Amino acid sequence: MKSFELYEPRTVKEAVDTLSKAGPKAKILAGGSDLVAGVMKDWVEGPGMPLPDALVDVTAIPQLRGIKADQNGVTIGANMTLTEIIESKELNERLPMLVNAAHSVASPLIRNFATLGGNINQRPRCWFLRGPDFHCYKKGGDTCFSVTGDNRFHAIIGGELCYIVHPSDTATALLALNAQAKIAGPDGERTVAFDNYFIGPRENVLRENVLQPNELMVEVFIPTPAAGTKQTWMKLKNRDVYDFALVSVAAAFTTENDNWKDGRIVLGGVAPVPYRATGMENQLKGKHIKNSIKQAAATIRTVARPMSMNAYKVDIAQNMVERTILQALA
Ligand SMILES: Cc1cc2nc3c(=O)[nH]c(=O)nc-3n(C[C@H](O)[C@H](O)[C@H](O)COP(=O)(O)OP(=O)(O)OC[C@H]3O[C@@H](n4cnc5c(N)ncnc54)[C@H](O)[C@@H]3O)c2cc1C
Ligand code: SF4
Repeated sequence: MKSFELYEPRTVKEAVDTLSKAGPKAKILAGGSDLVAGVMKDWVEGPGMPLPDALVDVTAIPQLRGIKADQNGVTIGANMTLTEIIESKELNERLPMLVNAAHSVASPLIRNFATLGGNINQRPRCWFLRGPDFHCYKKGGDTCFSVTGDNRFHAIIGGELCYIVHPSDTATALLALNAQAKIAGPDGERTVAFDNYFIGPRENVLRENVLQPNELMVEVFIPTPAAGTKQTWMKLKNRDVYDFALVSVAAAFTTENDNWKDGRIVLGGVAPVPYRATGMENQLKGKHIKNSIKQAAATIRTVARPMSMNAYKVDIAQNMVERTILQALA
């Protein structure tokens, strides 16, 4: 592995100052399960994705820790590990969907040190991106190898130039829960709704979210769901032991007399960003859920543009949405 400078700030301000001084090749380090054990170990680099020359370890910043709950919602520090999220009594009672999504990530060992901030902001898993010999668009190159190569795990919606699928399970669940991220940067703090947090290749092929190189995620806020909100998480993996989502579905919704009142359906594993299925939500609005879900789930066919080897994902996504919503009702 190439050598790098290591910084260990104790406050958010110190971390932002260090990132600003160290320049665009500096990276935030949390658990390191993706950045160090993946990206840097495998030399994933290119002109648009240089290997970091400085790591800013944020794990000793107290402000990034903690789970706080009040009547307005729950705030989770970016450095809370996935295991801490899974074991939180408060989160199990209030946000079981997020707990189930966190529980479906990787293996217990990885969940013990992988953080929420790292999970949401991890880099994509496209096997061409992770291979040192493929200088594709996302590394600053001039082609996408998935178009003519093996694209069985790639996007069926929203791909353009690049066809990654967003790798984070917690991001999919948090978007369904209408979460917001608090971000710290040189000009202070700002709050960004998860609706606007992720960036697809159409907007910027070199990035996956709105974070600037000298900004960090401080915490995530999830507003208290409306009374009676049903929450469900479902994930299909290629290898059941542990794997990224082939397709996942996060649904959070309210009902009135068996009709859909309000809510969100978000799919993972299908698009470069966690994909909010507003077409399905609109189809269900005010309708009897059990009578309408089949037709609503089928609207995925109007937006999906599968590649040469991944049309199977369209069938899976359609059926999983139907199954997830019916499971929530049961
Ligand atoms: C074998 C294996 C299986 C996996 N399976 C799954 C899976 O099924 N589902 C899934 O969702 N993930 C999966 N992952 C990915 C894993 O969950 C992530 O690697 C992990 O969550 C990253 O957390 P970390 O704290 O180790 O982050 P790091 O590796 O330290 O950082 C990851 C990225 O996030 C950035 N970052 C970290 N913290 C912050 C912050 N506070 N603000 C801004 N940026 C930040 C870093 O700069 C880096 O780019 C798997 C990983 C492995 C190795
Ligand atoms: S899908 Fe994206 S990351 Fe993968 S080869 Fe194409 S441009 Fe690169």
